[in-house]
Amino acid sequence: MNSNYLKRILLENDIKSIKSKINILIEENHIINPIIKDDMFKLLESVGKVLYYPIKDNVCAFYVKADNNHFKENIIFINTFMPYEIQIFTAAHEFAHIIGIAENHEELLVKDKIFDYVFDSMENIDKNELLANYFASELLVKDIILESQLLKMKINRLDSITMEDIIRLMDIFLFPYKPMVLKLYCIGKISYEKYEELIDINCDNSIFQLQNRLGLCSRNNELTRIKSFSNFIDLAINSYEMTVRTYDKLKYVLKLFDLTPEKLGVKKKLPKHLSEEGLEEIPYDL
Ligand SMILES: [Zn+2]
Repeated sequence: MNSNYLKRILLENDIKSIKSKINILIEENHIINPIIKDDMFKLLESVGKVLYYPIKDNVCAFYVKADNNHFKENIIFINTFMPYEIQIFTAAHEFAHIIGIAENHEELLVKDKIFDYVFDSMENIDKNELLANYFASELLVKDIILESQLLKMKINRLDSITMEDIIRLMDIFLFPYKPMVLKLYCIGKISYEKYEELIDINCDNSIFQLQNRLGLCSRNNELTRIKSFSNFIDLAINSYEMTVRTYDKLKYVLKLFDLTPEKLGVKKKLPKHLSEEGLEEIPYDL
């Protein structure tokens, strides 16, 4: 690390501990590909129930602990209306809270705040948020892999990296722009002046245009709009089959996930005991 602000807030020990926890995590979870990308979601699903749902809002994710028969269950929401690179980064951030890298507390992450830690002007930055983001950056873009990519790309002089190179790295790691610039600064590939210049660039326009021109980062920018929630659909069907839930309620719940009972092979059942009114309601063509 350079003499940057991260070092003023994160102690050498914090960084060492994050790196060693990541190594343990990789071993325990048999992660073979060192570039994790969207395998991050599998890791997150191993520590809680994850709701993936698209909402047009600046909320990226939230994490709550729900009571489930005397034990606390982690529920994590990922907004799939966000670019995929943001979904992955926020998944790693929440994972850091859940496994105790950063304080294990419930939270709501909004888009405008997620990369606040990138700027050193943030005097009141919460160290826990910094720890969670540092973990996310280190897990998704390991220093050693980044260095070897830079060698392959023949980038070995300070500040010789171009915007095109950064976009190539974003594409390789499926990782957002601002934290990538910070990583490059942290491993000493860009000077502080260059870091400031790069971080000030209007991310949403010029970078997007260059990405399109190079035909890169299409997955980074994809709004996946995925709708899924752990084993929720299975539970909903089970509860219908046990007649805890009505067919209409099941239909309504499935519709939220763009599903229908027919798609899942669930047939409408005839009630076992019918009142006279109930009998009258049965359509003739059943
Ligand atoms: Zn956080």
